[in-house]
Amino acid sequence: MFFPVPDYMFNRFEEITPAFLTALGVRCLLCDIDNTLVTYDDVLPTESVLRWLSSLKEADILVILLSNNKHERVLRFAEGLDLAWVAKAGKPLIKKARKALKEAGIPPKRTAVLGDQLFTDVWVGKFLGAAATLTVSPIRDKKSLFVRGKRFLERPFIAFYKRREAKKQKFGQKSGQKEER
Ligand SMILES: [Mg+2]
Repeated sequence: MFFPVPDYMFNRFEEITPAFLTALGVRCLLCDIDNTLVTYDDVLPTESVLRWLSSLKEADILVILLSNNKHERVLRFAEGLDLAWVAKAGKPLIKKARKALKEAGIPPKRTAVLGDQLFTDVWVGKFLGAAATLTVSPIRDKKSLFVRGKRFLERPFIAFYKRREAKKQKFGQKSGQKEER
């Protein structure tokens, strides 16, 4: 299904733990930068980003930064991080993402995609056939009409996600009750 409905939604990237990714069989995370890890105004990774990245590294999860932003921005952010990165990634097109995975020797099925936008990040994951697509709430959106329009168009897919989660919960509770009897 190519609807841009994420598999998992989080509020912040810190909520995504190495254990969670490992349980999904994920060995590589294609990770957006802007509004996912930091705001557009943060030139460098924050302390929290650094801690999170090193926890993934410890768990042997490879992180590849995949950004539609320009070369200079991504280079500056990634400097000193010892990570592979792709600027001007052209998301939701997957040509560059696929190339980066090929170079890393990791199949899409062992990869998760993380970002804040359904029509770029989540679609990349879907088109790649990734193990999972993950989103976080955008840290701080620009207040342009274009961004507001995009967020408006995302709404039905987020609603779909929430309904699906609610159903899962209901089902989970029912089976839990059965076990108690
Ligand atoms: Mg973003």
